[in-house]
Amino acid sequence: MVDKAKLLELVQLGHPSLKARATEISDVFDAQVQALMDDMLYTVTQSKGVGLAAPQVDVSKRLIIVASHPNERYPHAPVMAPTIMINPEILSTSDAIESDWEGCLSVPGIRGLVPRFTHVRFKFTNRQGLEVIEEYSDFLARVIQHEIDHLDGISFLERVADLKTLVSEIEFQKIIRARERHKS
Ligand code: ZN
Repeated sequence: MVDKAKLLELVQLGHPSLKARATEISDVFDAQVQALMDDMLYTVTQSKGVGLAAPQVDVSKRLIIVASHPNERYPHAPVMAPTIMINPEILSTSDAIESDWEGCLSVPGIRGLVPRFTHVRFKFTNRQGLEVIEEYSDFLARVIQHEIDHLDGISFLERVADLKTLVSEIEFQKIIRARERHKS
């Protein structure tokens, strides 16, 4: 990451960029696109996100970062190097679907139970311009589905199966702590 990367402002629920279909990136090596990648990497790290999509920083382009790591927002997230994905596309999914908690940097303070495919096979172009095919399961599969939804103008709230599961961050922390006590 270059040291001149800057912290980008996150737009929030209701902003038009979060509702639009983002456009494909045709030139990975474009200087503006490369700078955007640096700034998004910096921003996702600073904001403790496990993922970030360009529309969340008001850029309507098909670019996401998956950056799973355990933190106070997601205590059991797996560790991985932040991965930039350009024009990501889901190729196939499991039949199996599971519900688990989701939140979003663009929807601060709200969590909800979202059903997602437990396994996805997908492709993307990496920062070097090469096509990569990858498979994710469980939490990472959830993150990639959440981020690709952003590129299609869909927020996780639209995926919540039962609006009664929506909770505030404070109530969510209570649920998580109760779950931890159950495990130990
Ligand atoms: Zn989000």
